[in-house]
Amino acid sequence: AIFNLGSINADYFYRVPHLPGPGETLASTGLSRGLGGKGANMSVAAARAGARTIHIGAVGADGLWARDQMMESGVDTRHVATLADTPTGHAIINVDDAGENAIVLLPGANHAIPSETQEAALSEAAAGDILLVQNETLMQAEMAKTARDLGLYVAYAAAPFDASATAAILPYLDFLILNEVEAEQLAQSIGKTPEALGIADVIITLGAKGARWINGSQTRDFPAMPVTAVDTTGAGDTFTGFVLAARDRGLPMEQAIALAMRAAALMVTRHGTADVIPDLKDVDEARF
Ligand code: ADP
Repeated sequence: AIFNLGSINADYFYRVPHLPGPGETLASTGLSRGLGGKGANMSVAAARAGARTIHIGAVGADGLWARDQMMESGVDTRHVATLADTPTGHAIINVDDAGENAIVLLPGANHAIPSETQEAALSEAAAGDILLVQNETLMQAEMAKTARDLGLYVAYAAAPFDASATAAILPYLDFLILNEVEAEQLAQSIGKTPEALGIADVIITLGAKGARWINGSQTRDFPAMPVTAVDTTGAGDTFTGFVLAARDRGLPMEQAIALAMRAAALMVTRHGTADVIPDLKDVDEARF
């Protein structure tokens, strides 16, 4: 099983003729709402990839729809707390006619996940299970240390990049995944290449160029599937969910990466976020 300590966001997309400037009041021509947050996206991807996925997180009273949408995607949401006095994490995403965006993010409940919720979830975990964490919650390193002591396989997506959160968690990792920009930020902030980190498996995703797997002194490059990308939102989250779901059911890393590559390629051909993350059947049926 995969235990994912992660964010749950309400993404509000406002259509605007142009991005508002200082002091400007601007009428939006349309609003749409969707489930987002790197944590929720990864849980949905892992569940749709067939893994038993237990999300550890929190929403406010205004976010029950988000929790329910995760549940409908197959995620176990028993350890998603509902907080009375804290709003659900949300993103206000202004999108102009040219497709350019400007985003305001409120962490909200994602920064108030009760420690009892985290403990209750981990009490159900057994050696060999996977713990996944990212940077949109707090206490990742503490959770990682506890999980490692319990014999879990600890996976970390270093996104969005946070130098101090990353430095704190590095000693407890079995698996690190990051995109090219984050890999550069990591190298800058700690002065080490991924090979020198001493983590069993490191994956660097390279967008349309595919992905690189670093395993000890071995490095292997995997080309991306040739597709026409229309919206790359959630590509990395889909990749992470699928690669870990495949590892959870015992596939070798090469096969896990190949599957994740196909899932992420399919994802970039679709507009949307959590709502359009593919499932195993979609990926099996896709022809590239
Ligand atoms: P992130 O979304 O975290 O920035 P990337 O942009 O590296 O991550 O994309 C993650 C994965 O999604 C890549 O490793 C690749 O498998 C897939 N992907 C992204 N963009 C494309 C593309 N244009 N064509 C095919 N696959 C893509």
